[in-house]
Amino acid sequence: KAKQSGRNRLHVFDADRDRMVRGRLEQVELVRQALEAGQFELFYQPKVHMRSGAMLGVEALIRWRHPERGLVLPGEFLPGVEGHSVGLALDDWVLDAALQQQAQWRTQGVELTVSVNVSAAQLSRPDFLQVLQEALARHPTVRPGDLELEVLESSALKDMARVSCLIDACRALGVDFAIDDFGTGYSSLAYLKELGAQCLKVDQRFVRDVLEDPDDLSILDAVLGLARAFRRQVVAEGVETVAHGEMLLHLGYEFAQGYAIARPMPAQEIPAWKATWQPDAVWQACARLPHE
Ligand code: C2E
Ligand code: MG
Ligand code: MG
Ligand code: MG
Repeated sequence: KAKQSGRNRLHVFDADRDRMVRGRLEQVELVRQALEAGQFELFYQPKVHMRSGAMLGVEALIRWRHPERGLVLPGEFLPGVEGHSVGLALDDWVLDAALQQQAQWRTQGVELTVSVNVSAAQLSRPDFLQVLQEALARHPTVRPGDLELEVLESSALKDMARVSCLIDACRALGVDFAIDDFGTGYSSLAYLKELGAQCLKVDQRFVRDVLEDPDDLSILDAVLGLARAFRRQVVAEGVETVAHGEMLLHLGYEFAQGYAIARPMPAQEIPAWKATWQPDAVWQACARLPHE
């Protein structure tokens, strides 16, 4: 009896698995077709110095302009292709499109650092450095120093020794790294010493609840202390309201990204945004307070 139900369970499990595998293959195929059809697009979200209003750069964020579904966010299609060759092809496309956009902005007299998110799979490619160098070579007007690569803390921790070497090799080319979603990887502090990434992007979940949750305040404070001790830049993600930005400024944070500043937008909107954006009056007032 037990054997029989066991077999049944196995059967159910197999059916589920089969559906999952087929579902994934379909997803992969859809993304492959969309890539060929040119349906992917990069949006760009400004990264600013909150007090002065200086725009430091933009982060490239992929969107799928789906003919029926409209604009589809990466959370819906990236997990399905992660680790698959199509995922890598998408990563290559993103890097190239971001560099091409940057070159175009340069011809308009707009100079911006562009940050590109790099997947764990991309980072583990044996030919990662070569891919990066070839991409840079295709866009000779872009200075390597104006490109930053964002790697998730969790990906960096997966293979620390290798990632650490990779970061050093990229920095030798002039390309900087940022650790994305910092604070979510449950890591020890020691790895900060190992990783040569110049920037920490503190995860938005700590920023989101900081106005209500004293623990998140302590975390933000501690991350800032760490960043200073290790002489790294620190950027707060997910600054959704002016009050969040004000709180961050009082804590000593200077750099931020978030809806209170700007939502990710199509590339052609960036130059006008850069030319006209002003920080909120409360933030400008923070500039007159003594800091440190
Ligand atoms: P991420 O790199 O941490 O990017 C920040 C995400 O937070 C973006 O979501 C952005 O639109 C969103 N965001 C920005 N400001 C706010 C805010 O004030 N409040 C809230 N609630 N959200 C905010 P998006 O574009 O949906 O991207 C999600 C994630 O997908 C990214 O997180 C990144 O890990 C990944 N991703 C996006 N584009 C690419 C890409 O081109 N390549 C790779 N490998 N991953 C990408
Ligand atoms: Mg990012
Ligand atoms: Mg740089
Ligand atoms: Mg993030």
